[in-house]
Amino acid sequence: MFDKTKTYHRRKIVVVFFMCAFMLAGLMGRLVYLMVFRSDYYQEKADDLHERERSIKAARGKIIDSTGTVLATNRTVCTVSVIHSQIKDPETVISVLCKELNLSEETVRKRVEKVSSIERIKANVDKETGDKIRSYDLAGVKVDEDFKRYYPYDTTASKVLGFTGSDNQGIIGLEVYYEEYLKGIDGTILTQTDARGIELDGEAEERVEAVPGNNLHVTLDYNIQMYCEQAAKKVLEEKEAEYVSIIIMNPKDGSIYANVNVPEFDLNNPFVLPEGTDTASMTDQQKNDALNQMWRNQSVNDTYEPGSTFKIITSTIALEEGVVSVNDTFSCPGFAIVEDRKIRCHKVRGHGTETFIQGIQNSCKQVYTIWILVPELENSLKNGDFLEV
Ligand SMILES: [Zn+2]
Repeated sequence: MFDKTKTYHRRKIVVVFFMCAFMLAGLMGRLVYLMVFRSDYYQEKADDLHERERSIKAARGKIIDSTGTVLATNRTVCTVSVIHSQIKDPETVISVLCKELNLSEETVRKRVEKVSSIERIKANVDKETGDKIRSYDLAGVKVDEDFKRYYPYDTTASKVLGFTGSDNQGIIGLEVYYEEYLKGIDGTILTQTDARGIELDGEAEERVEAVPGNNLHVTLDYNIQMYCEQAAKKVLEEKEAEYVSIIIMNPKDGSIYANVNVPEFDLNNPFVLPEGTDTASMTDQQKNDALNQMWRNQSVNDTYEPGSTFKIITSTIALEEGVVSVNDTFSCPGFAIVEDRKIRCHKVRGHGTETFIQGIQNSCKQVYTIWILVPELENSLKNGDFLEV
């Protein structure tokens, strides 16, 4: 009897021991898992709680033309934020921010009263307004300087330069093509706080300075660009055209001196559709399409029948090769037959008899095209009887 009880107890102890050991092993395993394998994750969570991070915006690189004229630069603006735990007088904060930032009380109140480590009230605030808010010296209100893209000439080369979005990232044109070089690297201000979000005394702010973006030097020439823009606008009006494009290129190295596509748009207000657009009746999709249409660089994106522009090449080759001389005469009845097709001249009745020079002045199709297409016609071309072939 005595022995039996002892055995029973011993067995019970063994069972309890193993159960405890098993649970302990499980707990230790979990602890190892949390401390070793998940330490980064929890460290990050703790940092989130104890560190407040504000970014220092990097200045975006300028876009500068070949004469040194700055076509795209930055203006200093401010971002106004509030730190909930540091606000001492919420009502004053709300009324000041409403007044200075021109926001509704409801909007500001919601953000001021929100329990978060930092809440952005408004970005892209004029430096003047930012300075004024700073001068109130309100606890819990932070005014950080920021940059906003600014285009000194508003519409000049708008479709070439492109513009940036709310976070200063390039959206179209050179701004997006050279984004990587222009954007720079944002810095941060790191502040240590206690669990309630109050900044710790004696803990210095940790600053990682921003690295400004590279400047972009382009071959455009502001003066030539402006001259072309005026010329294009004149043609746009005279011909009541939908758009007019001009490209000025140095034929020796292909550098572009001017690229005009009128109507241009205001780079400082790129989301405003042209005057007279009935935006009220448009769906979002239609507005989007209209904006994309307005931003479109026709001279780069649209296909263009190279007919008349190619005449310069064919006639230059013909002159250089001695196939024609400037005083050779041609006869244009309004069309030419090449192989199996009839090519119409733009003047239906024909230009009649004309010299090579007159043919070029008239932009006469016959004078330019035929000898390139059918080289064996060279002789008959010279005699002006190529139309009978
Ligand atoms: Zn003709």
